[in-house]
This record gives sequence, C-alpha cells and structure tokens, in this order.
Amino acid sequence: ALYQQAEIAMYKVKDSGKNNYHVFMTDDAALIERKRRIEFGLKEALSRNELYLLYQPKVDLSTGIIYGTEALIRWKHPLLGEVSPTEFIPIAEESGIIHDIGYWVVFEAIRQNKIWHDAGICIDIAVNVSALQYEDPFFIERIKQTLLHHDLDPKYLIIEVTESVMQNVEHSNRVIKELHDLGVKIAIDDFGTGYSSLSVLNNVFIDIVKIDKSFIDGILTKENTASLVKTIIQMGKSLNFHIVAEGIETEEQAEFLKINECSFGQGYLFSRPLLPTDLPKKVT
Ligand code: C2E
Ligand code: CA
Ligand code: CA
Ligand code: CA
Repeated sequence: ALYQQAEIAMYKVKDSGKNNYHVFMTDDAALIERKRRIEFGLKEALSRNELYLLYQPKVDLSTGIIYGTEALIRWKHPLLGEVSPTEFIPIAEESGIIHDIGYWVVFEAIRQNKIWHDAGICIDIAVNVSALQYEDPFFIERIKQTLLHHDLDPKYLIIEVTESVMQNVEHSNRVIKELHDLGVKIAIDDFGTGYSSLSVLNNVFIDIVKIDKSFIDGILTKENTASLVKTIIQMGKSLNFHIVAEGIETEEQAEFLKINECSFGQGYLFSRPLLPTDLPKKVT
C-alpha cells in the first residue's frame, strides 16, 4: 500500500511538472495508474507467458452431456495478480494489442481442442472475438491457416461475436459468410443486450444464439423476463438456431429452461471454467 501511495505521489509531481496542475482524488490517480500498468503489462504479457485459457463446459440440458467448451482468457500479472478480462480486454482493444492477443487465443484454443480430439474427446470449442478483430482483413485467412496447422475440422470451431459487431452491417455480413463458407460456426454472444437483436436473427449464416446471463438471472423471479426468454427460445428454434443459455447457476433455472425447450446451457451449476487438464475428468 505504501509503495502504491508513493507511486501516486510521483504521478502527481510528474504531471504538475508539465505546468498542468491537476489535483486527482487518490482513487482517480490509483485507477489511472492501474490502467497504465495494465496497458504496459499487456504488451509483455504474451512473450512472458502470463496469459492462459480456461475452458467452461457447455452441456446438453436434457442429458447433461458435455458437447463443447468456451475458451475464456485469463491473465496473471506479476504484481497485480489475476486481472479480469472484463477489465483488460477493453484496454487491449483501445491500445490495439487485442489483435495479437486475439490470434494467440484462436491458436491456443484450436491447439487444445485438437489435443482433446486426439485423446478421443470429440467436443467443439468456442472462442470470443472482439469487434476490432473482425475489421482485420487477414482475420479469415489466419483462422483458416490455424485450423490447417493443427489439422482441426472447422466444424469444431465456433466464433462468438457480440451484437456490436453487426453494426457495420455490410462488412460483418461478409465476414460471417466467409466464416460460414470455411465451415466455422458463428454464435451471437450476450443475445438481447445489444440494439439490433431481431435483425441479427435475420442472418442466415448465424448458427447459435447465446441468451445473456442477465436474462437467465431473472427467469424464476420476473414474469416478464420468463416470458421474454420463452419467446427467444421459441423464436430461435423456429429459425433453426441452436440456443445456449448462459450463466445457469441453479437446478431450478436449468429445469425451467429444459421445460421450455432450451437445448443447451452453460454455467456454474454444471462447471466453472476449467484448466485444460481438468476437463477430461468431467467428460468421462
Ligand atoms: P462472456 O463471453 O459473456 O463469458 C461469460 C462469462 O460469464 C465468463 O466470465 C464466465 O466465467 C462467466 N460465467 C459463466 N457461467 C457463469 C455463472 O453461472 N455465473 C456467473 N456469475 N458467471 C458465469 P469471464 O471469464 O470473466 O469473461 C468475461 C468476459 O470477458 C466474457 O464474457 C467476454 O466478453 C470477455 N472475454 C473472455 N475471454 C475473452 C477472449 O479470449 N477474447 C475476448 N475478446 N473477450 C474475452
Ligand atoms: Ca462468450
Ligand atoms: Ca456471453
Ligand atoms: Ca456476458
């Protein structure tokens, strides 16, 4: 704590040295310093092997069988400890380092899934991709090359995108079609939290819709939310999407979803995100 206070004090001196006299609340200064450290730290994180992936199982709700996983990035910073992706991904996007990190995630997830396949565990792997990565003209080619490199059938790879990706309609439609042509599957993540939910469902190359956890949280307590989720499931089914419910934490929530014909789910009830070595024990 002392060390941190000293750093904050230094920050103030340096800043006022530029003839800009700012008075920061200690909290603000600490936040700015933390952000700066994260931004600088991310530049080294890859080469220092500080990033790793955990894998959260996705289950068939009617049988409980694990049919796939979602890769979730983790970062152990040497001084800050574990930093959450909800904190560092936006900073990685701002600084542009998300491209390198994003390709590492794709490479690592495909590599790991191939290891499972070779061990007879035939499951799919979903990877989160941020809107910026989508803008990269080499995105499709890099994914294609990575699949070839590891000799994984593209049908076992799912790219998860949020609705924000769909804002540039023409571009995103082209990328989604190219992924589809490659044989990769596309999932809409956090469905229902964006602005364009219904038009997203009009895209014939989207395979999977993931209902956001914020809706699942309310299915047993809020009548409106329950109706909304039922409607999303029915609508999704009639349009031939696979529907995955995110963030299932209780048996009651799983039961509700099963009764209402949601086929797939993910959440702490079934499993937290796992180290790759722990997954085979769960699959049996
Ligand atoms: P997301 O894609 O919506 O991932 C689901 C998040 O919910 C994960 O948090 C997961 O650990 C958590 N979760 C799963 N089941 C439950 C549950 O039953 N209860 C609760 N309370 N939480 C649950 P995580 O791993 O902290 O990731 C947060 C977000 O960071 C992700 O949200 C995703 O947007 C982003 N993210 C994670 N990995 C990557 C990545 O490799 N690339 C990019 N671009 N974003 C990533
Ligand atoms: Ca996701
Ligand atoms: Ca999600
Ligand atoms: Ca989410």
